[in-house]
Amino acid sequence: MLVLFDIDGTLLRARGVGVQSMERAFKRLHDLQVDTSLLDTGGRLDPHLFNELHDQHDIPFRGETVTAYQDAYVREMARAFEDRSWSHAMPGSIEMARAVHEHPELVSAVLTGNIEATSWLKLKDAGFERDWFEFGVFGDEGQTRRDLPVVARLRHQEQTGALLDPGRIVIIGDTPHDIDCAHHSGCSVIAVATGSASLQTLRDHQPDLLLESLEDTQQVLDWLLAR
Ligand SMILES: [Mg+2]
Repeated sequence: MLVLFDIDGTLLRARGVGVQSMERAFKRLHDLQVDTSLLDTGGRLDPHLFNELHDQHDIPFRGETVTAYQDAYVREMARAFEDRSWSHAMPGSIEMARAVHEHPELVSAVLTGNIEATSWLKLKDAGFERDWFEFGVFGDEGQTRRDLPVVARLRHQEQTGALLDPGRIVIIGDTPHDIDCAHHSGCSVIAVATGSASLQTLRDHQPDLLLESLEDTQQVLDWLLAR
């Protein structure tokens, strides 16, 4: 069984470091201020958010601008984390990630809208060990979140030689986008209401398991192993 953890709202909350880094990177690269106040970040892919900000100033987000902006974004976030800690783990999420990593029948990985470098920065800042996750699938590896589970399936195959049935993949996330990408790919999904979406909103999207938090590690492990 492959368990794919979303990052923001599921494993941790990084209190605005992403938005601040996006603004500062934009200022550094284009010497312009962007308005992030209406940016809907929950469950979205970072490149879509970057594109939206560039649209504000009619700057095409493609080619070298993509690389230059992403590099600037990573540098700004690394700098922010040098100054202080921004992230905190969600209730039970550290224990959950460690337990999945340590269980011989489970493989743990991340599936997130973040780009790779900032994923590991946020996780480290919140107290997660890099080696609790066998691999990651990131926001720049698909056009939409729906594209990401198949990337995870192939990456798992590269590492193990075995191509998993999608029914042997469980996504754990905090938004309707996580539920949608799991259902679209034939994967199971645990929705956890520690992020921006309410319990009722998540329920409306019919996850296979709905939780208020990841605090009951044993309940989640039992559910995973019974599938
Ligand atoms: Mg999330």
